Amino acid sequence: MSRVLAADIGGTNIRAAVIDANGSLLDEVRVDAQLSNPALSADEIIHIIADLLQPMITADITAVGLGFPGFFRGSDGVLAASPNLPNIRELPLAESLSSRLGIRVAAQNDALCAAIGEHRFGAGKGARNLLHITLGTGVGGGLILSDQPWTGEYGMAMEFGHVRVADERACGCGLHGCLEAWASATAVSRIYAEQTGCIKSAGDIYSAACSGDSVAEALLRQTGEYLGAAIAEAVKLLDVHTITISGGLSGAWSLLYPPLMARMNSRLIPPLRDTIHVYQTSLGDQAGLLGAAYIARS
Ligand code: BGC
Ligand code: ZN
Repeated sequence: MSRVLAADIGGTNIRAAVIDANGSLLDEVRVDAQLSNPALSADEIIHIIADLLQPMITADITAVGLGFPGFFRGSDGVLAASPNLPNIRELPLAESLSSRLGIRVAAQNDALCAAIGEHRFGAGKGARNLLHITLGTGVGGGLILSDQPWTGEYGMAMEFGHVRVADERACGCGLHGCLEAWASATAVSRIYAEQTGCIKSAGDIYSAACSGDSVAEALLRQTGEYLGAAIAEAVKLLDVHTITISGGLSGAWSLLYPPLMARMNSRLIPPLRDTIHVYQTSLGDQAGLLGAAYIARS
């Protein structure tokens, strides 16, 4: 049975797995890799990824699929830029990896891969139209319309992290006030540090909020509200009724969800209110891998 190697590349870690035709993960690895370190060149990033994947490529692997953060240009795996990997510009990602690994490589936006995985196997299964959001180093968005991934004209559709929600904060994409600058795991950690002087991960901020840290609690409430506000705008444009959310910060679900729903509903036009379902991923951190396997096969 045909097997592919799938990889989900994040700003702070890389996950890879061999996946069979049924979507079963056979051999999974997860390594910490600070790819968002601005000192790393594009070539070094390619090198780190190739070194991890090479030993996993056995004779029965037919292709590699890669979910990678950033703005893709077209379907041949060329990356125009990546807000959290600042040295990447016009990088022929799929081609470079393919020539190093000696196997066909397909690459697409990480959040689009997660959307595909969630739609086929996860909380978005059964929805013809799905908006999937990832909350990690960045904020990503992937869209499924009529059961098909929607890439847009050039491959940059649904860059949900770069919709504007509030002024001030600079974003890695070059704009200001992006959702990502307020509601990514990185942003939450940064804002908490500004307010308290303590450096904590998004997960630790969630634990602190659950044990009564009022700064952490207010920050997660605000994060939920920004997400809800941005989702409402997307729903008005797309009339998509199923939204799924994954990524490290989605672990703070119990605190994000109530303000998210309240703000989203308050910003929706009346006929849409209380009709939109927002679910936490049911796949943990595997949605992106499953979607990357799908693009490797297509
Ligand atoms: C990038 C997206 C990516 C998201 C999550 C954003 O900064 O612009 O392309 O999907 O981060 O990694
Ligand atoms: Zn931005």
